[in-house]
Amino acid sequence: MSLGGEKKIVVVIGGGVAGSLVAKSLQNEANVSLIDEKEYFEITWASLRSMVEYSFAKRSVITHSEYLPHAKIISSAAVDITDTDVLTKQGNRIWYDYLVVATGHTQNTASTKTEKINQYQAENEKIKAANSILIVGGGPTGVELAAEIVVDFPDKKVTLVHRGSRLLEFIGESASKKALNWLTSKKVEVILGQSVDVNSASDGVYRTSGGETVTADCHFVCIGTPFGSTWLKETILKDNLDSRGRLMVDSNLRIKGHSNIFAIGDITDIPELKQGYLAQEHAKVAAKNIMLLIKGVENDHKFAVYKPATKALALVSLGRKEGVAQFPCLSIAGRIPGMIKSGDLFVGKTRKGLGLQPDI
Ligand SMILES: Cc1cc2nc3c(=O)[nH]c(=O)nc-3n(C[C@H](O)[C@H](O)[C@H](O)COP(=O)(O)OP(=O)(O)OC[C@H]3O[C@@H](n4cnc5c(N)ncnc54)[C@H](O)[C@@H]3O)c2cc1C
Repeated sequence: MSLGGEKKIVVVIGGGVAGSLVAKSLQNEANVSLIDEKEYFEITWASLRSMVEYSFAKRSVITHSEYLPHAKIISSAAVDITDTDVLTKQGNRIWYDYLVVATGHTQNTASTKTEKINQYQAENEKIKAANSILIVGGGPTGVELAAEIVVDFPDKKVTLVHRGSRLLEFIGESASKKALNWLTSKKVEVILGQSVDVNSASDGVYRTSGGETVTADCHFVCIGTPFGSTWLKETILKDNLDSRGRLMVDSNLRIKGHSNIFAIGDITDIPELKQGYLAQEHAKVAAKNIMLLIKGVENDHKFAVYKPATKALALVSLGRKEGVAQFPCLSIAGRIPGMIKSGDLFVGKTRKGLGLQPDI
């Protein structure tokens, strides 16, 4: 624990969209430690572009030390939380005055920036070498990847298989239809209402649950991953997990019953879409409230309140120039959403938000 007059100790677990921003916001005000199982922050919404153009990852995969010159970076998974400290897999105990849990979704990924860029290079070579590609999953990741491939490699045959009855089920039906029409206009074969077990493929032939066959030289699985909360079941926060494994927070983003522990980002039970721009808003609220606590404010009415986003707002890029946008009352497709997102995919903007040059 910090002694009187010394800076308070803030520990952030998880260096994703939410954790990186809260750590950056507090690094000059407190002794901040960021615990992340990997050494870098990745701008996830640029990851599909990095698969077709792997050099894109040089700007969108950012080593934590680049934007956290005044924080301590601990590259290890957190495995336990007590009332006073966090234990890492490497066996370090890190004391905290204030703790922020931001472990989002599980990611089975490279641990260093170099490894991550090499991974993108390998995926890029896999795409270039294939004449036909199967994409499993028709959420934003699968749709964006299919679009990136057909725009950059129009001669490749792309098949997208999706279990649901429509693409992009997280947004409205008309936006789904626009994405479907766009993909089919680019000759992507879209199979809805079916799944594929990629492990049962033989000689490049994949069987769908509906008995159809898809022939492809390679595949990419683009389905969601579980919340990064399994490890919390053995910690003091075990009773704060809901039935889906999300941390239950109050309107100040504190975990109920733990006045010095916050949770932000996808890991929370906030009733809204799990999106990065919302995770960034959580980070701003948590940073404000931790600053107030550091200053000794105890009156709850002074704390910043997070209001869940009730209206759907989403932008799905369709290659480098087009996209589909879901606004609260309408959806649009084509060049206008493309102008907002698809060129730079908000990479420069996100880098600026972390205090970095937009370009390198
Ligand atoms: C391909 C893709 C495209 C997307 N596109 C968009 C988009 O266009 N717009 C948008 O708004 N949102 C988009 N999203 C969603 C957005 O990325 C998430 O909402 C956002 O990443 C959530 O941030 P987070 O900080 O809560 O979690 P994450 O970004 O998932 O970060 C979690 C962090 O915790 C770390 N971690 C996990 N467990 C532990 C542990 N035990 N110990 C230490 N560290 C741990 C991980 O290494 C990771 O760094 C996209 C997501 C993906 C996957």
